[in-house]
Amino acid sequence: IDEKLYCIGCGAKLQTEDKDKPGFIQASTLKKYLEDDSKELLCKRCFRLRNYNEITDVDVSDDDFLKLLDSISEKDALVVNVVDIFDYEGSVIPGLQRFVGDKKILVVGNKVDLLPHSVNQNRLLNWLQQKSKENGIKSTDQILVSAVKGTNIDELMEMIEKYRDGKDVYVVGTTNTGKSTLINRIISSNSDIKNLITTSRFPGTTLDRIDIPLDDGHNLIDTPGIIHNYQLAHYLNAQDLKAITPKKPLRPVTFQLRDGQTIFVGGLTRFDFLNDRTNVTFYVNQGLPLHRTKTQNADEFYAKHLGDILNPPSDVKDFPELKQQIFSAHEKSDIVIYGLGWITIPAGTKVMTYVPEGVHVSIRNAII
Ligand code: GDP
Repeated sequence: IDEKLYCIGCGAKLQTEDKDKPGFIQASTLKKYLEDDSKELLCKRCFRLRNYNEITDVDVSDDDFLKLLDSISEKDALVVNVVDIFDYEGSVIPGLQRFVGDKKILVVGNKVDLLPHSVNQNRLLNWLQQKSKENGIKSTDQILVSAVKGTNIDELMEMIEKYRDGKDVYVVGTTNTGKSTLINRIISSNSDIKNLITTSRFPGTTLDRIDIPLDDGHNLIDTPGIIHNYQLAHYLNAQDLKAITPKKPLRPVTFQLRDGQTIFVGGLTRFDFLNDRTNVTFYVNQGLPLHRTKTQNADEFYAKHLGDILNPPSDVKDFPELKQQIFSAHEKSDIVIYGLGWITIPAGTKVMTYVPEGVHVSIRNAII
């Protein structure tokens, strides 16, 4: 692309290489624009926004994102932090409070529709509050929503009204938390919203923001989504990503394990259970193959069947090697694989996890 082409909607420099980065435009579309200069030159995101009132998130690096948070720190505003309840550990932004200072933070747990029906929502709200605290986030309040199903969206808007004290509202979150879906929900449930525009850039960054007008002249401001590279999603192709992403409530699957047994989740992760007997419950997308073997045969089995019985990954060529880590549960706990789900193990269980290098694993008190 010619150095001098910028989107007139958001000001991002136009590029044709990466559809998830700011300023993306399809090469064929750009060609048409260049042949007919009576048209306004807009990146794909701004085009969709102008024409369909529809938001697609762009990804930004940690560095850009920190600059962005920094620019918010100077504003007097309410911060709404969207996290993914299914992938809390992968979507929380631990440094958030440091950046936003003493601003109020409202934590929105999205994708509540994915949790098994047995989950007690009050308990989950307490859990969310507790987790925020552990990550240094002083949440003023928290709410569970489903952007896809439209659950609790009105309640969310009421909460925002309650806490924003007539100020602007900044919505922040990592990619894949459903922030765009949520913003689109908010827009469509406030159908009198007009003149939705991508306007100014955040000072000190190249990123555009989207202002959604509120009643009193203030705005709800959508910010770009930050990528966390340690989510499993970043190591998978589109087909495999679909296979791990739940669309329906998780259906727990319980195994009673004897001495020396291993369970594979496709070829993505492996768990070796080190106790004589263990009851373990899996919370992952339905349809992902859970394969049990003897631990002593597991290495060989993996080498032989990665990509066929142990699938996803469907593409084994660039799939990272699995790295081991050992966990001991002092109380009933969840071992969380960022982006994939979790397993619940009883107190006293010892388990060796194997996940692709770069993907994070953690242990937490059981949420169910
Ligand atoms: P963003 O990157 O944060 O803007 O996330 P998107 O809005 O693009 O959503 C990421 C993925 O999560 C998509 O596959 C959405 O369909 C899905 N998603 C978003 N909101 C929900 C929700 O409330 N429930 C469920 N089950 N999936 C959701």
